[in-house]
Amino acid sequence: MSCGGIHETPCSEVLSEVALLIDGEINEPGKIHAIEHHFEECGACCEEMEHERRMHDLLHDVLTRSCMDTQESISSPNFAGQKFQFR
Ligand SMILES: [Zn+2]
Repeated sequence: MSCGGIHETPCSEVLSEVALLIDGEINEPGKIHAIEHHFEECGACCEEMEHERRMHDLLHDVLTRSCMDTQESISSPNFAGQKFQFR
């Protein structure tokens, strides 16, 4: 998806980085700034980012929940409080 406009950072480049950005895998402040700047002037990419983030949160939710379900069925109630220790 592209808005067709001219930007400092091309839409294609921003969209290819969106998933990485959401996963927190981009550590260069300059790159993050460039992408955020792009979102400000490009509604299409901003929407795409929101969509990706929702999908990411949803997936995270499902994974967390199924993980907790498993723990609840196989262990004592106290064990649920330790669910993040393995990370
Ligand atoms: Zn764009």
